[in-house]
Amino acid sequence: MKKWTFGLVAGLMLLLPLTLATTTTTTASAATKTTTTKTKPKTKAKKHYLIVMGHGAGDPGARGNGTTEAAFLRKHMLPQLRKYAKEVKNSEITFYNPKKNLVSDTLYHHKGSYKINKKTTVIMFHLDAPAGHGGHVIIHKKHPTARDKRLAKVIKKYVGLNRAYNGYSFRTNLRNCNVLRKRGIDYSLVESGFITNKTDVKHLKKHMAKIAKADIEAITNEKIK
Ligand SMILES: [Zn+2]
Repeated sequence: MKKWTFGLVAGLMLLLPLTLATTTTTTASAATKTTTTKTKPKTKAKKHYLIVMGHGAGDPGARGNGTTEAAFLRKHMLPQLRKYAKEVKNSEITFYNPKKNLVSDTLYHHKGSYKINKKTTVIMFHLDAPAGHGGHVIIHKKHPTARDKRLAKVIKKYVGLNRAYNGYSFRTNLRNCNVLRKRGIDYSLVESGFITNKTDVKHLKKHMAKIAKADIEAITNEKIK
């Protein structure tokens, strides 16, 4: 009698967890399904670009055609770049304080390029001197990136390319750029033309809005309406 009771109870006890387990599994999978459909799609983080107008903070840069590199870049180019930088959707563009000088901040104060986030891409704008015509892109690796190629195309279209470089120059003797390179930060340095060349400056002034728009598109690989 005792043995039989034990057998029955034991049998029931064996069956019970199975039934319970099945129910639990079904509920769990149903819950998972609901959770999955309710999860929001992840929004991709925007790519950050830092645009730097060359020189400034007491350093005029090159001189020509009655102006200086620092003044021309800030007066003519910066407002247009800012305007189109607001139009892009998938990128975040910020500007290095135009009252400051990235190179001296970096080399004399150990700030500037040392403080830039490693995921940021840095785009520096300059004008060339002393004599010549056309622009080029100073690149951070031996071969131009797709972005470098797009930037060179803009120069070619509106000002013309410097024949000495045919679009690109890979340099390892620019100390500020080397700080970026050593920190693994991606960059392009755009020489948009010669400040000493009358025709280059004329073209830069005449097409500045189009150049700035095309440069922002080239940097971000986004189309602006
Ligand atoms: Zn310069």
